[in-house]
Amino acid sequence: MAYFAGFDLGGTQLKYGLVDDKARISFEGSADTPDGMAELFSLLESCWEELSRGSIKPIQAAGFGFPGIFDQEQQRIIQSPNYPSIDNIDLSPRLDRFIDIPVWINNDANMAAYGEFKTGAGQGVQSVILLTIGTGVGSGIILQGELWQGVRGFAGELGHVTVNPDGDKCRCGSRGCLETEVSSLKIIKNYQSLSGKGEDITSEDIFRLAKERDESALAAFLQAGKHLGIGLSALINLFNPEKILLGGGVMRAGDVLLCPAKEEARFRSYDASFNSCQIERATLGNRAGFIGCALWARDRSLMGKS
Ligand SMILES: [Zn+2]
Repeated sequence: MAYFAGFDLGGTQLKYGLVDDKARISFEGSADTPDGMAELFSLLESCWEELSRGSIKPIQAAGFGFPGIFDQEQQRIIQSPNYPSIDNIDLSPRLDRFIDIPVWINNDANMAAYGEFKTGAGQGVQSVILLTIGTGVGSGIILQGELWQGVRGFAGELGHVTVNPDGDKCRCGSRGCLETEVSSLKIIKNYQSLSGKGEDITSEDIFRLAKERDESALAAFLQAGKHLGIGLSALINLFNPEKILLGGGVMRAGDVLLCPAKEEARFRSYDASFNSCQIERATLGNRAGFIGCALWARDRSLMGKS
Protein backbone atom coordinates (compact mmCIF):
# COMPACT_ATOMS: atom_id res chain seq x y z
CA MET A 1 0.00 0.00 0.00
CA ALA A 2 1.31 3.44 -0.97
CA TYR A 3 0.51 6.65 0.90
CA PHE A 4 0.21 10.23 -0.29
CA ALA A 5 0.08 13.42 1.77
CA GLY A 6 -2.27 16.31 1.09
CA PHE A 7 -2.15 19.87 2.51
CA ASP A 8 -4.99 22.28 1.86
CA LEU A 9 -4.25 25.82 2.96
CA GLY A 10 -7.29 28.03 3.57
CA GLY A 11 -7.51 31.60 4.85
CA THR A 12 -8.30 30.39 8.38
CA GLN A 13 -7.52 26.65 8.49
CA LEU A 14 -4.89 24.24 7.22
CA LYS A 15 -6.38 20.79 6.58
CA TYR A 16 -3.93 17.97 5.98
CA GLY A 17 -3.86 14.22 5.86
CA LEU A 18 -2.72 10.96 4.39
CA VAL A 19 -4.58 9.07 1.68
CA ASP A 20 -3.69 5.62 0.37
CA ASP A 21 -3.53 4.67 -3.30
CA LYS A 22 -7.20 3.57 -3.18
CA ALA A 23 -8.20 7.06 -1.96
CA ARG A 24 -8.91 5.92 1.62
CA ILE A 25 -8.07 8.43 4.35
CA SER A 26 -5.65 7.01 6.91
CA PHE A 27 -4.95 10.22 8.85
CA GLU A 28 -6.31 13.76 8.95
CA GLY A 29 -5.63 16.84 10.98
CA SER A 30 -6.18 20.58 10.99
CA ALA A 31 -4.56 23.70 12.40
CA ASP A 32 -5.27 27.43 12.44
CA THR A 33 -3.51 29.26 9.63
CA PRO A 34 -0.97 31.82 10.84
CA ASP A 35 -0.74 35.22 9.11
CA GLY A 36 3.01 35.34 8.53
CA MET A 37 4.91 33.40 5.89
CA ALA A 38 7.69 32.16 8.21
CA GLU A 39 5.11 30.90 10.72
CA LEU A 40 3.20 29.19 7.91
CA PHE A 41 6.23 27.21 6.77
CA SER A 42 7.15 26.17 10.29
CA LEU A 43 3.55 24.97 10.72
CA LEU A 44 3.75 23.01 7.44
CA GLU A 45 7.04 21.46 8.61
CA SER A 46 5.58 20.31 11.92
CA CYS A 47 2.47 18.91 10.18
CA TRP A 48 4.70 17.08 7.72
CA GLU A 49 6.72 15.58 10.60
CA GLU A 50 3.49 14.47 12.25
CA LEU A 51 2.38 12.73 9.04
CA SER A 52 5.70 11.10 8.26
CA ARG A 53 6.10 9.84 11.85
CA GLY A 54 2.56 8.41 11.85
CA SER A 55 2.73 6.67 8.48
CA ILE A 56 3.24 2.90 8.55
CA LYS A 57 4.78 2.91 5.08
CA PRO A 58 6.89 5.70 3.54
CA ILE A 59 4.90 8.48 1.93
CA GLN A 60 5.49 8.55 -1.83
CA ALA A 61 4.50 12.12 -2.78
CA ALA A 62 2.85 15.20 -1.30
CA GLY A 63 0.33 17.60 -2.82
CA PHE A 64 -0.25 21.20 -1.70
CA GLY A 65 -3.24 23.42 -2.46
CA PHE A 66 -2.54 27.12 -1.95
CA PRO A 67 -5.12 29.89 -2.27
CA GLY A 68 -4.49 32.30 -5.14
CA ILE A 69 -3.26 32.32 -8.71
CA PHE A 70 -0.56 29.65 -8.99
CA ASP A 71 1.94 30.05 -11.81
CA GLN A 72 3.03 26.62 -12.98
CA GLU A 73 6.08 27.93 -14.84
CA GLN A 74 7.44 29.85 -11.85
CA GLN A 75 6.00 27.42 -9.27
CA ARG A 76 4.76 30.31 -7.14
CA ILE A 77 1.53 31.98 -6.14
CA ILE A 78 1.65 35.29 -7.95
CA GLN A 79 -1.49 36.78 -6.42
CA SER A 80 -3.38 35.62 -3.37
CA PRO A 81 -6.10 38.17 -2.51
CA ASN A 82 -7.11 36.20 0.60
CA TYR A 83 -3.61 35.22 1.82
CA PRO A 84 -1.20 37.95 0.66
CA SER A 85 1.80 36.74 2.70
CA ILE A 86 2.46 33.95 0.17
CA ASP A 87 2.43 36.29 -2.86
CA ASN A 88 5.49 35.73 -5.07
CA ILE A 89 7.17 33.32 -2.68
CA ASP A 90 9.14 30.42 -4.17
CA LEU A 91 7.13 27.63 -2.63
CA SER A 92 8.95 24.52 -3.88
CA PRO A 93 12.42 25.34 -2.47
CA ARG A 94 10.89 26.18 0.91
CA LEU A 95 8.99 22.88 0.98
CA ASP A 96 12.02 20.94 -0.29
CA ARG A 97 13.96 22.04 2.83
CA PHE A 98 12.01 19.60 4.94
CA ILE A 99 10.22 17.28 2.47
CA ASP A 100 12.44 14.79 0.65
CA ILE A 101 9.79 13.27 -1.64
CA PRO A 102 8.21 14.69 -4.83
CA VAL A 103 5.97 17.70 -4.13
CA TRP A 104 3.14 18.89 -6.38
CA ILE A 105 1.59 22.32 -5.94
CA ASN A 106 -1.64 23.71 -7.33
CA ASN A 107 -4.46 26.11 -6.55
CA ASP A 108 -6.62 25.06 -3.57
CA ALA A 109 -9.97 25.18 -5.42
CA ASN A 110 -8.57 23.13 -8.31
CA MET A 111 -7.50 20.51 -5.79
CA ALA A 112 -10.93 20.45 -4.09
CA ALA A 113 -12.52 19.91 -7.52
CA TYR A 114 -10.03 17.10 -8.18
CA GLY A 115 -10.97 15.49 -4.86
CA GLU A 116 -14.71 15.59 -5.64
CA PHE A 117 -13.97 14.26 -9.15
CA LYS A 118 -11.90 11.34 -7.90
CA THR A 119 -13.78 10.27 -4.82
CA GLY A 120 -16.77 12.56 -4.11
CA ALA A 121 -19.97 13.56 -5.91
CA GLY A 122 -18.09 13.89 -9.21
CA GLN A 123 -16.84 10.31 -9.23
CA GLY A 124 -17.42 8.65 -12.61
CA VAL A 125 -18.34 12.01 -14.22
CA GLN A 126 -16.01 13.24 -16.96
CA SER A 127 -17.00 16.94 -17.02
CA VAL A 128 -17.63 18.33 -13.56
CA ILE A 129 -17.17 21.77 -12.00
CA LEU A 130 -16.94 22.50 -8.28
CA LEU A 131 -17.87 25.86 -6.77
CA THR A 132 -17.01 26.45 -3.11
CA ILE A 133 -18.96 29.35 -1.65
CA GLY A 134 -17.87 30.76 1.70
CA THR A 135 -16.15 34.02 2.57
CA GLY A 136 -14.88 33.79 -1.04
CA VAL A 137 -15.79 31.69 -4.07
CA GLY A 138 -13.36 29.04 -5.33
CA SER A 139 -13.85 26.91 -8.40
CA GLY A 140 -12.15 24.13 -10.29
CA ILE A 141 -13.05 22.71 -13.69
CA ILE A 142 -12.63 19.11 -14.81
CA LEU A 143 -13.26 18.69 -18.53
CA GLN A 144 -13.34 15.28 -20.19
CA GLY A 145 -11.47 13.72 -17.29
CA GLU A 146 -8.70 16.33 -16.99
CA LEU A 147 -8.27 19.33 -14.71
CA TRP A 148 -8.55 22.40 -16.95
CA GLN A 149 -5.64 24.63 -15.93
CA GLY A 150 -5.17 27.03 -18.85
CA VAL A 151 -1.89 28.00 -20.44
CA ARG A 152 -0.09 28.93 -17.17
CA GLY A 153 -2.38 27.41 -14.55
CA PHE A 154 -4.70 30.37 -13.90
CA ALA A 155 -7.94 28.87 -15.26
CA GLY A 156 -11.07 28.06 -13.29
CA GLU A 157 -11.52 31.40 -11.52
CA LEU A 158 -15.28 31.65 -11.84
CA GLY A 159 -15.25 33.54 -8.53
CA HIS A 160 -13.76 36.49 -10.42
CA VAL A 161 -16.09 36.48 -13.39
CA THR A 162 -18.33 39.57 -13.38
CA VAL A 163 -21.97 38.80 -12.61
CA ASN A 164 -22.99 42.35 -11.65
CA PRO A 165 -21.22 45.19 -13.50
CA ASP A 166 -22.29 47.70 -10.82
CA GLY A 167 -21.56 45.41 -7.89
CA ASP A 168 -19.13 45.77 -5.01
CA LYS A 169 -15.39 46.22 -5.40
CA CYS A 170 -13.51 42.91 -5.24
CA ARG A 171 -10.12 42.15 -3.68
CA CYS A 172 -8.91 41.06 -7.14
CA GLY A 173 -9.23 44.69 -8.33
CA SER A 174 -12.44 44.23 -10.35
CA ARG A 175 -16.06 44.93 -9.40
CA GLY A 176 -19.18 42.78 -9.13
CA CYS A 177 -17.33 39.44 -9.25
CA LEU A 178 -19.33 36.32 -8.38
CA GLU A 179 -17.22 36.22 -5.19
CA THR A 180 -18.39 39.65 -4.07
CA GLU A 181 -22.05 38.97 -4.97
CA VAL A 182 -22.72 35.57 -3.36
CA SER A 183 -20.23 35.33 -0.49
CA SER A 184 -21.37 35.14 3.13
CA LEU A 185 -20.31 38.79 3.55
CA LYS A 186 -22.59 39.87 0.71
CA ILE A 187 -25.56 37.97 2.13
CA ILE A 188 -25.01 39.86 5.40
CA LYS A 189 -24.74 43.14 3.52
CA ASN A 190 -27.90 42.38 1.49
CA TYR A 191 -29.80 41.63 4.68
CA GLN A 192 -28.58 44.73 6.48
CA SER A 193 -29.59 47.03 3.63
CA LEU A 194 -32.96 45.31 3.07
CA SER A 195 -33.94 45.16 6.74
CA GLY A 196 -32.39 48.48 7.77
CA LYS A 197 -30.79 46.62 10.71
CA GLY A 198 -27.11 47.34 11.11
CA GLU A 199 -26.40 45.05 14.05
CA ASP A 200 -23.78 42.30 14.07
CA ILE A 201 -25.26 39.27 12.37
CA THR A 202 -23.81 36.16 10.71
CA SER A 203 -24.91 34.47 7.48
CA GLU A 204 -26.00 31.51 9.67
CA ASP A 205 -28.35 33.86 11.57
CA ILE A 206 -29.79 35.11 8.26
CA PHE A 207 -30.29 31.51 7.11
CA ARG A 208 -32.19 30.81 10.35
CA LEU A 209 -34.34 33.91 9.76
CA ALA A 210 -34.98 32.79 6.16
CA LYS A 211 -36.23 29.43 7.46
CA GLU A 212 -38.65 31.40 9.65
CA ARG A 213 -39.79 33.15 6.42
CA ASP A 214 -38.30 36.54 7.37
CA GLU A 215 -38.82 38.63 4.22
CA SER A 216 -35.51 40.51 4.32
CA ALA A 217 -33.56 37.29 4.93
CA LEU A 218 -35.30 35.51 2.04
CA ALA A 219 -34.68 38.52 -0.22
CA ALA A 220 -30.99 38.58 0.79
CA PHE A 221 -30.59 34.97 -0.38
CA LEU A 222 -32.75 35.59 -3.47
CA GLN A 223 -30.46 38.43 -4.56
CA ALA A 224 -27.33 36.31 -4.02
CA GLY A 225 -28.99 33.29 -5.67
CA LYS A 226 -29.76 35.27 -8.82
CA HIS A 227 -26.13 36.29 -9.15
CA LEU A 228 -25.03 32.72 -8.51
CA GLY A 229 -27.42 31.62 -11.29
CA ILE A 230 -25.79 34.06 -13.71
CA GLY A 231 -22.43 32.46 -12.92
CA LEU A 232 -23.86 28.95 -13.32
CA SER A 233 -25.40 29.80 -16.71
CA ALA A 234 -21.98 30.96 -17.96
CA LEU A 235 -20.54 27.57 -17.01
CA ILE A 236 -23.48 25.66 -18.50
CA ASN A 237 -23.44 27.48 -21.85
CA LEU A 238 -19.67 27.46 -22.09
CA PHE A 239 -18.78 23.93 -21.00
CA ASN A 240 -21.96 21.80 -21.15
CA PRO A 241 -20.84 20.03 -17.95
CA GLU A 242 -22.54 16.89 -16.71
CA LYS A 243 -22.45 18.12 -13.12
CA ILE A 244 -21.90 21.36 -11.24
CA LEU A 245 -21.19 20.70 -7.57
CA LEU A 246 -21.74 23.37 -4.93
CA GLY A 247 -19.96 23.31 -1.59
CA GLY A 248 -18.73 25.66 1.13
CA GLY A 249 -20.34 27.13 4.24
CA VAL A 250 -22.92 29.28 2.41
CA MET A 251 -24.42 26.16 0.77
CA ARG A 252 -25.64 25.06 4.20
CA ALA A 253 -28.49 27.47 3.40
CA GLY A 254 -29.66 24.89 0.84
CA ASP A 255 -32.80 25.67 -1.16
CA VAL A 256 -33.17 29.32 -0.16
CA LEU A 257 -30.03 29.94 -2.22
CA LEU A 258 -30.13 26.99 -4.61
CA CYS A 259 -33.71 27.44 -5.90
CA PRO A 260 -33.32 31.04 -7.12
CA ALA A 261 -29.86 30.14 -8.49
CA LYS A 262 -31.25 27.24 -10.53
CA GLU A 263 -34.18 29.33 -11.76
CA GLU A 264 -31.86 32.09 -12.94
CA ALA A 265 -29.46 29.58 -14.52
CA ARG A 266 -32.36 27.91 -16.38
CA PHE A 267 -33.55 31.30 -17.66
CA ARG A 268 -30.09 32.26 -18.95
CA SER A 269 -28.93 28.91 -20.39
CA TYR A 270 -29.81 26.95 -23.50
CA ASP A 271 -32.52 24.48 -22.41
CA ALA A 272 -30.67 21.49 -23.85
CA SER A 273 -27.49 22.38 -21.98
CA PHE A 274 -29.29 23.21 -18.71
CA ASN A 275 -31.31 19.97 -18.89
CA SER A 276 -28.20 17.86 -19.35
CA CYS A 277 -26.47 19.35 -16.29
CA GLN A 278 -27.10 18.21 -12.73
CA ILE A 279 -26.58 20.95 -10.15
CA GLU A 280 -26.09 19.37 -6.75
CA ARG A 281 -24.29 19.60 -3.43
CA ALA A 282 -20.66 18.48 -3.15
CA THR A 283 -20.15 15.59 -0.73
CA LEU A 284 -16.61 15.75 0.68
CA GLY A 285 -17.08 18.99 2.66
CA ASN A 286 -13.86 20.65 3.83
CA ARG A 287 -11.95 17.38 3.30
CA ALA A 288 -12.17 17.77 -0.51
CA GLY A 289 -9.04 19.95 -0.66
CA PHE A 290 -6.52 17.75 1.16
CA ILE A 291 -7.92 14.58 -0.44
CA GLY A 292 -7.63 16.22 -3.87
CA CYS A 293 -4.05 17.33 -3.12
CA ALA A 294 -3.02 13.82 -2.10
CA LEU A 295 -4.68 12.20 -5.12
CA TRP A 296 -3.21 14.84 -7.45
CA ALA A 297 0.23 13.95 -6.06
CA ARG A 298 -0.56 10.25 -6.56
CA ASP A 299 -1.72 10.66 -10.15
CA ARG A 300 0.99 13.14 -11.17
CA SER A 301 3.68 10.88 -9.69
CA LEU A 302 2.35 7.93 -11.64
CA MET A 303 2.26 9.97 -14.84
CA GLY A 304 5.57 11.73 -14.20
CA LYS A 305 3.92 15.08 -15.03
CA SER A 306 4.13 18.53 -13.49
ZN1 LIG B 1 -12.75 39.49 -8.16
